[in-house]
Amino acid sequence: MKAIVFEAPGSTPVLAEVDLAHPKAGEVEVTITAAGVCHSDLHVISGDWDISTPVVLGHEGSGVVSALGPGVTDLEIGDHVVLSWVPACGVCRYCLAGRPAQCVLVAEVVAPLGVLHDGTSRLTQQGRTLHHYLGVSSFAERVVVPVSGAIRVRKDAPLDVLALVGCAVATGVGAVTKTANVQPGSTVAVIGCGGVGLNCIQGARLAGAARIVAVDIMPEKLELARRLGATDVIDSSSTDAVKALKEAVPEGLDYVFDAIGKISTTEQAIAALGLGGAAVIVGLPPTGQHARFDPLALAEADQRILGSNYGSVVPQRDIPWLVDLYMSGELDLESLVSARRPLSEAPEALADLAAGRALRQLLIGSPTPIETE
Ligand SMILES: [Zn+2]
Ligand SMILES: [Zn+2]
Repeated sequence: MKAIVFEAPGSTPVLAEVDLAHPKAGEVEVTITAAGVCHSDLHVISGDWDISTPVVLGHEGSGVVSALGPGVTDLEIGDHVVLSWVPACGVCRYCLAGRPAQCVLVAEVVAPLGVLHDGTSRLTQQGRTLHHYLGVSSFAERVVVPVSGAIRVRKDAPLDVLALVGCAVATGVGAVTKTANVQPGSTVAVIGCGGVGLNCIQGARLAGAARIVAVDIMPEKLELARRLGATDVIDSSSTDAVKALKEAVPEGLDYVFDAIGKISTTEQAIAALGLGGAAVIVGLPPTGQHARFDPLALAEADQRILGSNYGSVVPQRDIPWLVDLYMSGELDLESLVSARRPLSEAPEALADLAAGRALRQLLIGSPTPIETE
């Protein structure tokens, strides 16, 4: 099959012919309908994060189950699924505590070693082993993933756009509704209006926030932020974001979401908080960087700093819920899609994302008819 292979930091990802083995016990094969292009893929290419290479990129995707490994009874061939990049083990301490995004098997084996649950890869290229990216590797015609990484969704939903639910939507909406548990009437700001930030804005709207202030440096993203629920927008290319946020919400911000993950934006999120407020780190910086804040001021103001990994979602429970919200019109996914392109254009799509020319781009695989039941 065709897939996008990345050799090592410094190289450009390329479309290549690779081999995908049959699913083993507890795994399924999924034929990809669409894969979303996310900033996390860029972090890998730039070498910001250390992962096992060579690797097939992509960690956001949707598709149709096309083969079952031995013993799989939870899914059937033909099921529509959204891929999750935390294919949790279900039995470790964190899984049992309802925090599958912290799954020990994913954190210690799947993610760092670029393999599936049994410690091996299903991907090869002319005899050499290729690694899986976050147990997904969706920039490909097909994938083999653990059953827990393929979340069955309703068949009457357009499957291509559902790819976004597996990363950007879960991360953004989850950060607001799960990690921070924003209450109705709260005041919220979101720094960064890309794929994740716009979903933080949608999450804040769903949570009933009274004020939702969007911060970005690109006017067209701020325009879209308004359409998705922002009550106020701040163009931080021409003004000091912290000062502008405090002026916009003089009563104080209850929550500030950093959807960028640069050190500067993390520091802004903390500095802009009102009394009792919480800064939520959603966007991810390169490994090993450190932000500064004033602990005395934080303590005196009774403020909190929260980390949010994968929006603190439980994928099996929350991905179908997010799909329902989309189907009922409460969650806008189409506005987040700036382009649909063939898999072969993945290198160009990644370059466009890096240059800020794109929102969420979908790499389209095989077409899937919508089934109405
Ligand atoms: Zn992502
Ligand atoms: Zn686990």
